[in-house]
Amino acid sequence: MYSLEQWVRYGDEIRRPFHVNPNLPKSTRIVIVGGGLSGLSTAFLIARKRQDVSIEIIEKENRLGGVIDTWRSDEWCCDVAVNATRPHPSVWRLVKYLGLEKEFSQSRPEARKRWIHDGNQARRLSPISALKIGPIRLARSVKKARKGGRSVMDLIPDKEVADALTLGVVNDVAINVDADFLFPTLTRFGAKPPKRWSGIKKEMMRTFPIFTPTKNSMSSFEGGMSTLTEKMITLLMQMSNVNISLNTRFKTPSEAANHFNVEQSSVIWTAPLDVREPDNKISVFAVGYNESDVESVETGYGTLIPNSDIPVSGILHESDIHSSRRAPDGFRLFRIMAPHSRWDGEQAEIRKSAKQFLSDRDPVIFELIGVRSIPAYRPGYMERISNKNPNYSRLGWNFSGVSITHVICEAERVSDLF
Ligand SMILES: Cc1cc2nc3c(=O)[nH]c(=O)nc-3n(C[C@H](O)[C@H](O)[C@H](O)COP(=O)(O)OP(=O)(O)OC[C@H]3O[C@@H](n4cnc5c(N)ncnc54)[C@H](O)[C@@H]3O)c2cc1C
Repeated sequence: MYSLEQWVRYGDEIRRPFHVNPNLPKSTRIVIVGGGLSGLSTAFLIARKRQDVSIEIIEKENRLGGVIDTWRSDEWCCDVAVNATRPHPSVWRLVKYLGLEKEFSQSRPEARKRWIHDGNQARRLSPISALKIGPIRLARSVKKARKGGRSVMDLIPDKEVADALTLGVVNDVAINVDADFLFPTLTRFGAKPPKRWSGIKKEMMRTFPIFTPTKNSMSSFEGGMSTLTEKMITLLMQMSNVNISLNTRFKTPSEAANHFNVEQSSVIWTAPLDVREPDNKISVFAVGYNESDVESVETGYGTLIPNSDIPVSGILHESDIHSSRRAPDGFRLFRIMAPHSRWDGEQAEIRKSAKQFLSDRDPVIFELIGVRSIPAYRPGYMERISNKNPNYSRLGWNFSGVSITHVICEAERVSDLF
């Protein structure tokens, strides 16, 4: 049972499983496996509070940041993974501790429109899309999904809308995605709030430092998401109680504990662990045009493409979305996502899709900027992980929540225990 104060501080992230070993806060030496956003923010938030706690960050690659990276070329700037955050006070507090207030701003309100494209025509995605499903049909399916273990397709009985929602987050179709995982508030998964959620949200809105975000807004960093991870890495490297090891991999929490001669309760695991379902792999392209060549593309957030005959699942209007610049004057930048389950690896196919959805004219830039794996969260996933009780701690999107609001909030919850 969580207090109202905790609900206001962490919001509905509190509904998700929180696998933190009760002895972790007693540790004076912590080993964090995984140097992505989860490992970095957990290390940073504990280390800034408790200089007497020494922290080892272990990363298997030769760089930190995990899936987050920003491709930059002259005045072009495009995120490979997350590009903006939904409002959550934990994120705003982290930005403030990092001293990044000036680099952090709300995305452009005129770029909120989202579309679903079926291959023939685009349809605007809005609250009206839900009305089209029919309120009674929707209410019935929500009620059924509250029994647990259902898919997003069970929750939202319109295949096109449901697939668009899941593609936009986990690049998978709705039937494969756990409804409790993606929409725990709607399915009423986990802890129950001590009063109406809408009232808690109102109180939460008063706690944002820097600026109070407007409803349904997104916010982002000048210079892309790497601005966040780069600043955190710089500060962590200056902290005398933090040690970072790159190119180092542990197979299990017990191996990490033995190596550093600590109890397993001092290990925080943010990497993948047990092999579950195969991850969803996607390739990410940055595609830039002369403004005049994409005049017919309306300003907006982007388009989701559920039709699996098309090799592209989503197109984000990067230079429309952010308040900070992503393209030189007179140009527009788009980010195209190609799931490997639909795409044969031929770049000509992606160019063909760019012609179909953006412009007949050739782009001025066309770059494959990265390949990323997105964990799969099959129906019943949240119920399954809720019953686990490991003797170490497990955090991050490889476990209990997909978005950076979850990852950062969870890191803050852990640091609040110290
Ligand atoms: C294309 C894409 C778009 C996204 N869009 C959004 C969005 O719009 N909004 C949003 O909120 N979120 C979005 N996300 C999700 C967001 O990026 C993640 O939630 C977040 O970055 C996850 O951080 P993490 O530290 O939990 O995991 P990771 O970044 O996966 O970090 C795990 C780290 O562990 C390391 N590691 C793995 N195994 C081992 C081992 N055995 N030993 C040591 N180290 C190991 C890895 O190399 C990695 O550095 C997106 C992600 C992708 C890929």
